[in-house]
Amino acid sequence: MKYCENCKISVRGTYSHCPLCNAVLTGEAEESAFPALESHHKRRKLWLSILALASVAGCVVCGTINFLLQGMPWSLFVFAGVACFWLTFSLAIYKGRNIPKTLVWEVFLVSALAVVWDLGTGWHAWSIEYVLPIVCMGVMVTLSIFARLYRVPSGSFIVYICLDALLGIVQLVLLFTGLVEVPLPSLLSIGLCVVTLAALFLFRGRNAKEELRRRLHL
Ligand SMILES: [Zn+2]
Repeated sequence: MKYCENCKISVRGTYSHCPLCNAVLTGEAEESAFPALESHHKRRKLWLSILALASVAGCVVCGTINFLLQGMPWSLFVFAGVACFWLTFSLAIYKGRNIPKTLVWEVFLVSALAVVWDLGTGWHAWSIEYVLPIVCMGVMVTLSIFARLYRVPSGSFIVYICLDALLGIVQLVLLFTGLVEVPLPSLLSIGLCVVTLAALFLFRGRNAKEELRRRLHL
């Protein structure tokens, strides 16, 4: 059995370092007490690598065709599209465990990317007239359903709803500054934010107040 001089304990299994103090173990290794488990991460990593390779190959093919045919540099849009996909996708993987939190982060990222695209393609305001309201509404509805189904602790749920509602305020500002010329999606989205917030404070008022006070250090 392996032995840690530091902690004066024997360690069963094939560890090379002490699980308590991380010092190098002495003595002979012995069969582990636990069966070896096939990791899910391996398969996921393989799929991610395949997806990444496909993205790189796609970019190379598009770049080459574009270079050979000359004309408009359309392949730049392909590169930007792939980059946006990986940004949103890696955020989902990185934050993946906490689905409501991931959703809220994705709203901000997707909205920001949409605005950048809109600016890059000559600003037709579709990002703030359609993408922002639709994404904001979508997440508001998904969060509410999710909270009902999975009994998300009401504290954190309140914070996510409030964060999403921040985008409602942004839309209100955009509406009043006249940047938004098609007001219907924004109005619907703002309305939904107001109704959801009202419901939250009417039915979960005490929870909501406590949670916000705690998080905002009021
Ligand atoms: Zn030790």
